Amino acid sequence: MKRHEGGVLGWGVAWLVFVLPVLWTEAAAAEPEIRPGVFQPLPLGAVKPEGWLHRQLEVQREGLTGHLDLFWPDVQHSGWIGGQAEGWERMPYWMDGAVPLAWLLDDPDLIARLRRYVDYVLSHQASDGWLGPERSPEGKYQPRDPWPVFVFLKALTQSAEASGDQRVVPAMSRFFRRLDAELEARPLFEWNRMRWQDGVLSIYWLYERTGDPALPALAQRLQRQGYDWLEHFRKLPHREKVTRWEHESHVVNNAMGVKTAAVLRRLTGESRLGDEVWQAVQVLDRYHGQASGVFSGDECFAGRMPSQGTETCAVVEYMYSLETAVAVTGDPRLADRLERITFNALPAAVKADWWGRQYVQQANQPVVRISPDRIYTTNGEKANLYGLETNYGCCTANMHQGGPKFVAHLWMRSGEGGLVAAAYGPSRVAAEVAGSRVQVRETTDYPFSDRIEFLVSVDQPVEFPLHLRVPEWCPRAVVQVGEEAPQELSGKGYQPLRRRWSGTTRIQLKLDMPLRTEPGYGGTVRVWQGPVLYSLRVPERWRWVGGRLPAADWEVLPEGPWNYALELDPAAPERGLEKVSAATGCVFCPGGPLPGLLVWARRLPGWSLEHNAAAPPPPSPVRSLEPRERVVLAPYGAVKLRMTDLPLLAPVEWGDWRQESGDRSQETGVGSREAGEGRQERGGRRGEAGEGRQERGDRRGETVVHERGAPERMKQVSVVHERGAHPLG
Ligand SMILES: [Zn+2]
Repeated sequence: MKRHEGGVLGWGVAWLVFVLPVLWTEAAAAEPEIRPGVFQPLPLGAVKPEGWLHRQLEVQREGLTGHLDLFWPDVQHSGWIGGQAEGWERMPYWMDGAVPLAWLLDDPDLIARLRRYVDYVLSHQASDGWLGPERSPEGKYQPRDPWPVFVFLKALTQSAEASGDQRVVPAMSRFFRRLDAELEARPLFEWNRMRWQDGVLSIYWLYERTGDPALPALAQRLQRQGYDWLEHFRKLPHREKVTRWEHESHVVNNAMGVKTAAVLRRLTGESRLGDEVWQAVQVLDRYHGQASGVFSGDECFAGRMPSQGTETCAVVEYMYSLETAVAVTGDPRLADRLERITFNALPAAVKADWWGRQYVQQANQPVVRISPDRIYTTNGEKANLYGLETNYGCCTANMHQGGPKFVAHLWMRSGEGGLVAAAYGPSRVAAEVAGSRVQVRETTDYPFSDRIEFLVSVDQPVEFPLHLRVPEWCPRAVVQVGEEAPQELSGKGYQPLRRRWSGTTRIQLKLDMPLRTEPGYGGTVRVWQGPVLYSLRVPERWRWVGGRLPAADWEVLPEGPWNYALELDPAAPERGLEKVSAATGCVFCPGGPLPGLLVWARRLPGWSLEHNAAAPPPPSPVRSLEPRERVVLAPYGAVKLRMTDLPLLAPVEWGDWRQESGDRSQETGVGSREAGEGRQERGGRRGEAGEGRQERGDRRGETVVHERGAPERMKQVSVVHERGAHPLG
């Protein structure tokens, strides 16, 4: 009730007026207020993808993101647009990724299709202000559940930023006024009690445009009624694998909840909250951390064992939480983590052609198959297949936001009136800075190159800082501005280049990326270069198990051994690893280049599958009497069968690697995507001649395996890549 006393003016009038974000400074001292973050994200459309990121988003559009509304009932016939399919979170989830994708690619067709959804929802707003369906048509969810509306508002606010849709601010004002009344009668419950912080973000967005003093009070009400994520991460009581389903240790809830300290910092102004997101990341790492930067949950926390799964929804939500938290806190460690997840866990979760996704991914993933006997706590037997909606459809709906939002958050405004390269990737940004129109074009193959070029163009001379990030993993960063002498950037994190810019200035940044290792699970080792994780590549055979092309369901079966221990000195990995190819272009796209590392290894015959997953790695150092072999490590996200946390051979097992590392007689299978996933369609066409038998393929030694029993319409085959040409074959 107290809120309404201070809020009458705001609710009655302010939503009619479009007010700029600076209004917060004028809020009365007695009112709660919403403060700006250290950085401010730019409106959708200010940052555009270039180079490989542009190609990656095109692939996404050519895949499920650009097609779900055309064939998947839970989007096509969503209850949100009066259909009879699911009317809860799925259509909003899809929009939350499809909206930024459509605007980043300037795709008029997808923009028009999305507009239909926006138009329907806004034109069907209830007379009391509620947005969206009163209840889900299939009756599975409680009526007037705020959770799916929070997701819809995330999509709607992005849409309004890009399109300038004037209906959005008043519609949101009416909705939040209604929500406030609903919460008084019925407090938050179930999912919305865990995910309230995502609703608060849209409250902030509206406040920046209306200055309505009732909005901070509504944010406080959500916090009071919602789950206490601050206490949760300060204590984290769930330190072991959780064996029952519960909200508190649910992997997606936690991935969303990890941003809460940053969200509340804008509301309370408490500076200590700025560090708490990083502390939450660390505590999640300690008990449930996985190599690719995510934490396990299948569906609840599952410990650090690299065969446990991480849900795709958690991957993209963790990314969004980090993007949000980088903006509020300016903490570069969170940007390092964002890149780590984006360049590894995100592409791993999705089929290269974007027509299928996993429900859960594993760091050690030597096989992907239907598993009645499985390692997961509550997930089903199809949880790690690549498919349309294997196990459950939430990830099918939610997978889309990862890439587009990463691009949209590459550049931000700094508090000092400058620009920040919050994370790196080929892109261009246009923004008004200190009264001048500024454009920066960022050209790079990062993270597969250590060189980044920026072209800074201003329409009139202007002074502002440009902040470049030196990642924690980077021992030496050198920057050269124009024709000036190169200079080493001292320290880690965001480093300002302060100067008076005029015309176009070329900046070259070199981030040294030595090969390095980090300890994995149970004494194992992981191999890194920059933000890219390298895993042992296991030869793949893709087997159709259901669904219709192109959105079919697939098992991925190993066509070679996976149980290796590496001959590597963790303190000097560059001596045991040989880089065999560089990458230009989209490594994660179909047919893209595949950079690789060669390393000596021996098999461990006693290390086998348990419950259709790799058994825990044997303790290192380990002995093996098997022959030495040269094996290939490839980017984690580009190989769908892989081993990431690998044991180390005892040094006594080593041969003379110095002498032998020059022997490349067995090596191939890197440097191109001839093999594996990128090949299956080609194999499919070629394979239609035969049925139910194996035959040798072309002169490259490709083997085509025809699957028995597939429906005639499928004519589907899967392909074994170059057997014999591969060091593991
Ligand atoms: Zn999911």
